[in-house]
Amino acid sequence: MIRVPAGGRRDVSGDLSSGPMQTLPPPRPRLVIFDLDGVVYRGSQAVPGAAGLVAALRAVGAGVRFATNNSMATRAAYVERLASHGIEASADEIVTSTSATIEHLREHAPAVSSIVALGATGMLEELLAAGFRAVSAGEAAPPEWDGEALPEAYDAVVVGLDRSFDYRRLGVAAAAIRAGAQFIATNADLRYPTPHGFLPGAGTIVAAVQAASGVEPLVIGKPQPGMFQAILTMGGVGPAEALVIGDNPDADIPAARRAGISSVLVLTGVADAALADGLDGDRRPDWIAADPAAVLDLLDLRVS
Ligand SMILES: [Mg+2]
Repeated sequence: MIRVPAGGRRDVSGDLSSGPMQTLPPPRPRLVIFDLDGVVYRGSQAVPGAAGLVAALRAVGAGVRFATNNSMATRAAYVERLASHGIEASADEIVTSTSATIEHLREHAPAVSSIVALGATGMLEELLAAGFRAVSAGEAAPPEWDGEALPEAYDAVVVGLDRSFDYRRLGVAAAAIRAGAQFIATNADLRYPTPHGFLPGAGTIVAAVQAASGVEPLVIGKPQPGMFQAILTMGGVGPAEALVIGDNPDADIPAARRAGISSVLVLTGVADAALADGLDGDRRPDWIAADPAAVLDLLDLRVS
C-alpha cells in the first residue's frame, strides 16, 4: 500500500511501512466509482476535497459513478443530495443497492415480474418505476392474515432496510419465499450509521427473513461484487480501467477486489490510520489516502 498524506503531494519517501509497497500511482482510470457516506459526505456534512476530486476527474474525461449500499432512497434523491454538496450528477451515475438489484433482475432473472418489497418507500418506488409489479410486504396479505397461504404467488422477495419492519411483514416475506419466491437482499449491512451512533442495518432484517423462511438470500450490495460488476457492464469499462474509492474495508474494498478493480481507502469515514495499517486479505486496499484531496495527488491530477 502507498500512503498519501492529506493536502500534500505524494511523498514516496514518507511513511510507507505497511507491507509490500506499490510505488507507482494507479494508471489514469477511465471510470472512478465513489462510495458515498464517508467519502463524499459524512451525514449532512460534505467531506472536504470530494467535490474538487469529482470535478478534476470530469475535467480529464474520466467517468464517475456513486455507489451506495443504502436501499432506502431513490436515485433522484441522491442527485439532490449531491447537488447540496456541490456535485452535479445525473441519476444514471448513481447506483444504490436497490438500483443494482433491479439491474441484476433484468440481466439474470428476466422472468421476475411480481415482487414483495420488504424495505423503505424509496425502494418500492424504484421497483415500481422499473416496471415491476411490486407490493409492500405490509400490503401483500389481507388485514386479518394469520399465516395462511398468501392470496397470490410472487416471483421474488426483495429485502432492504425497512424502518417500519414488524412481525407481520416478516411473516409475509417468509411466507412468499416458502411459496417459491426468490429471496434477494439488496445488502447485508448489519449496522446503519447515523450521526449519533448505529442502528440495525438491512442485514439484520435479512437475517430475520432467512431464519423465518429457512432460505439463504442472494446478496447484491457490497462486499459482494455484483454492484461494481453491473457498473462496469453498463459503462462498457474493464476492471483494469476502473478505480474504487471507499472508506469501508469490510464493504468497498472486498467488493472492489472480488470485481478485479483497484481500490483506494480514504480515511475520512469508518477507518482510521491505525486500522488501515493492519488490513490484509480481501480487506487490503491498493492505496491509502488521507482524504479525497490526497487522491488528486495519487492520480497526479492536481493543477499547480
Ligand atoms: Mg462508506
